Amino acid sequence: MSINKLREILKASQNIIFFGGAGVSTESGIPDFRSENGLYKASNGEGYPPETILSHSFYAAHTKDFYRFYKEKMIYQEAKPSAGHLALVKLEAMGKLKAVITQNIDGLHQVAGSKKVYELHGSVHRNHCTKCHQFYDLDFVMANEGVPKCTHCGGTIKPDVVLYEEGLDDETINGAVAAIMEADALIIGGTSLVVQPAASLIHYFRGKHLVLINKSSTPYDNKADLVIHEAIGKILSEAVDF
Ligand code: ZN
Repeated sequence: MSINKLREILKASQNIIFFGGAGVSTESGIPDFRSENGLYKASNGEGYPPETILSHSFYAAHTKDFYRFYKEKMIYQEAKPSAGHLALVKLEAMGKLKAVITQNIDGLHQVAGSKKVYELHGSVHRNHCTKCHQFYDLDFVMANEGVPKCTHCGGTIKPDVVLYEEGLDDETINGAVAAIMEADALIIGGTSLVVQPAASLIHYFRGKHLVLINKSSTPYDNKADLVIHEAIGKILSEAVDF
């Protein structure tokens, strides 16, 4: 029933934007770090919650511990795109989906084949020397014991991942906002919409159909034209079958 309605919306829309959260990647076996319970023990013997470790001040003060957590808990190089990722590629190839906006940093939309992707929180696949801005890929970062250093100048390499206390990239957020403002359908999936800027982005949508697909309810369920409380991959792959 809901699938049919979603399919009708997809058929009728010509400028669809997908906005996705951690739920899109959990189906690829990448856990949401926010659901990690307990504290992570740093080398000073103290335990820290993931949100603290993934903050700019922690990165600056305890770079080695940051990287230990980051490499152990945030990187899943074996992960493959899920059914949800692939359905979005198909929808883009049809000319209907104009962009994917994601909070995920794993780069799986691009691996799947999506062309237009706004990565609000950056990507683990882009890393730069903080001194000379030389680019490094994820393999280089992972191959380094401890803190990865620039082979040109010895500077510390930092992932292009937006940490807590850091602002989003202006160009990325402006592009995402512009895409949402032009959309006739906005599909939001795999996010409970409690993490900013997810919630605030919805306010830019002026199109016809707002669709929310998430296992649990969100604060915006009553504002959507269609709400589906199921796994995003199953729903998208069934709906994008026309
Ligand atoms: Zn350098």
